[in-house]
Amino acid sequence: MKSQSIFITGTDTDVGKTYTTLVLASLLKHQGIHTGVFKPVQCGGDDAAFLKKHLELDDDLRTINPCFAREPLSPHLAFERQKTPVDLAAIDRAYEQLRDKYDVLLIEGAGGLMVPVNKDLMICDLIRRFQTDVVIVSRLGLGAINHSLLTINQVRQAGLKIRGLIFNQTEPGRRGIPEQTNPEAVAAYGQVKQLGTVPYLKDLKSTSIIKRCDGVIDTHLLLKSPSNPNTRRLTEWDKQYVWHPFTQMRDWLTDEPLIIDQARGSYLIDTDGRRYLDGVSSLWVNVHGHGKEHIDRAVKDQVDRLSHSTLLGLSNTPAVELAKKLIEIAPSGLSKVFYSDNGSSSVEIAIKMAYQYWQNIGQTQKTGIVHLANSYHGDTLGSVSVGGIDLFHKVYRNLIFPTIQIDFPDCYRLPEGKQYPDYAFEYVDRMEAYFRDHHQELAAMVIEPIVQGAAGMIIWPGGVLKRMEDICRRYDVLLIADEVATGFGRTGRMFACEHEEVSPDILCLAKGITGGYLPLAATLTSQRVYDGFVFDYADQKTFFHGHTYTGNPLCCAAAIASLEVFGKERVMAKLAPKIKYLSKHLQMFYNLDSVGDVRQLGMMAGIELVADRATREPYPWTEKIGVKICQEVRKHGVILRPLGNVIVIMPPLSITKAEIRTMLDATYKAIQAVVQGS
Ligand SMILES: *Cc1c(COP(=O)(O)O)cnc(C)c1O
Repeated sequence: MKSQSIFITGTDTDVGKTYTTLVLASLLKHQGIHTGVFKPVQCGGDDAAFLKKHLELDDDLRTINPCFAREPLSPHLAFERQKTPVDLAAIDRAYEQLRDKYDVLLIEGAGGLMVPVNKDLMICDLIRRFQTDVVIVSRLGLGAINHSLLTINQVRQAGLKIRGLIFNQTEPGRRGIPEQTNPEAVAAYGQVKQLGTVPYLKDLKSTSIIKRCDGVIDTHLLLKSPSNPNTRRLTEWDKQYVWHPFTQMRDWLTDEPLIIDQARGSYLIDTDGRRYLDGVSSLWVNVHGHGKEHIDRAVKDQVDRLSHSTLLGLSNTPAVELAKKLIEIAPSGLSKVFYSDNGSSSVEIAIKMAYQYWQNIGQTQKTGIVHLANSYHGDTLGSVSVGGIDLFHKVYRNLIFPTIQIDFPDCYRLPEGKQYPDYAFEYVDRMEAYFRDHHQELAAMVIEPIVQGAAGMIIWPGGVLKRMEDICRRYDVLLIADEVATGFGRTGRMFACEHEEVSPDILCLAKGITGGYLPLAATLTSQRVYDGFVFDYADQKTFFHGHTYTGNPLCCAAAIASLEVFGKERVMAKLAPKIKYLSKHLQMFYNLDSVGDVRQLGMMAGIELVADRATREPYPWTEKIGVKICQEVRKHGVILRPLGNVIVIMPPLSITKAEIRTMLDATYKAIQAVVQGS
């Protein structure tokens, strides 16, 4: 098991490093964490023996403190005068031994960072040798700000990371103004986290330390990696066995994974009990919040009746009931439901249907599938074929089937002199010209109506979608609307097509369909498309497609329950004020120079970061600015996931205004911190 070591250094000598180490170790032990201490170099005094005794450690004193000099002087001098050089090999051996033994090892320095150990080595070099993060101990009182900030600067200059700063009340009595205000001032000027202030302790028995310090000192902050043994085990197994999607595993292995164990409402809760606002609805799926009683109940009840039975040759109750409900709420003109279990499949099914439809009815030359630039329809090869995002799709170029990609602008970066929305319509005009010339070879066009999500929340100007529908109608090309992301209320209407009263021939649904509970997808079709498959058995015009779990009853039960919540709780009506609120507060992001554009439709929003606002020059993707911001925002208890340089905001529809505010404030601070720091 990999343990972690933390180096405890002081802003000066006699600031109470040893007391602080004792307090931290006592608190960690109290939480069931196997904690040891290490004092590599000691000159005079009995710090190591003191810690060994109070913490009841069974290690040899020579292991806890391998290098000892009698005189209370700076180590470089004390060891020289004693004519025993500091034995680095012994330090390394002892360190390894203790590190292997304990889950957490607290290493106490001698004096401050710039104390020479010998003529080649300072304490800060020793810290680098151990490759640990640093906790700085500072004494409360006049002078603390200066001493603390000097040390903070020095730690950073040495390329070391600060876990936090801890203050020590070294004298009894009431705290005066400096004592009361030191921590806040140092946190603000030094941009470091505060672990708390150790009160003046007369009694050093562990029970009284726990009594005085538990809850006063933040040991969560102290431990970068999880303190909970269960978390540690899961972390190790995760790294050993799990391959994460869309993830460079090399980066993953160097980070501490966040392992989610529970969720309630808008919050995810990790294995250590920390709560995080779910700012992207668990990847755009959650609708009514986590642990929604009505859906929980429906799934549990369904488990008691039937968990799975096939739709190949049989039917099942929830699948039938859900199909009826979906058709009732879907845009007009749709009358049949074909189930699958993920968004990519729902699109792939739509494409196969559209293609076979024309074959079945004898228009065999209509085979072309049109899609747009910047489109994203999923990751299976069929859905990648209609994808327009180079980063995701180009490696697979030789595996995919040929399609027709129609150019479409990204709505933010327009050429000189071009204006929105006219510019977008120039593209629609070109699309129309293409259709006029080629419609006899075109089977279908697949689009993400109004919001191209994965491309970075590109939002079309009003009227574009309607024009696209008109073009498809005029030239008899089937319109496939992929509402995998936009469906189920996300844009402020149940379906994005409703904004422009568009009736696609085929509609793809997934993500939010079960309220974010279970994997389910549906491809809805018009009667006309469906009728194109209704022939004699012998004609072999059947739709030859089906997945093993098609129409799974548990998934369908969750979806029915989710739709019931929409009705019973008037979700869409209640959404309007939240959308307004979100929109109003998103404006503050324009105060940040690094924010180029803020886009929003309903509860889907994107904040695009730019290296230069005037030229709209993007951050180089290698800078991972989005990733960094989303990592930073976690520290404020919010989970987000970026799309390149775009920070996506897509909370559950059930989020409250107060939670929206919390999420946006945290995002704002995170952008500030990362951009200032870069
Ligand atoms: C997420 C998404 C998909 C793919 O859905 P999966 O369930 O991940 O396969 C397809 N289309 C759009 C628009 C999406 O946002």
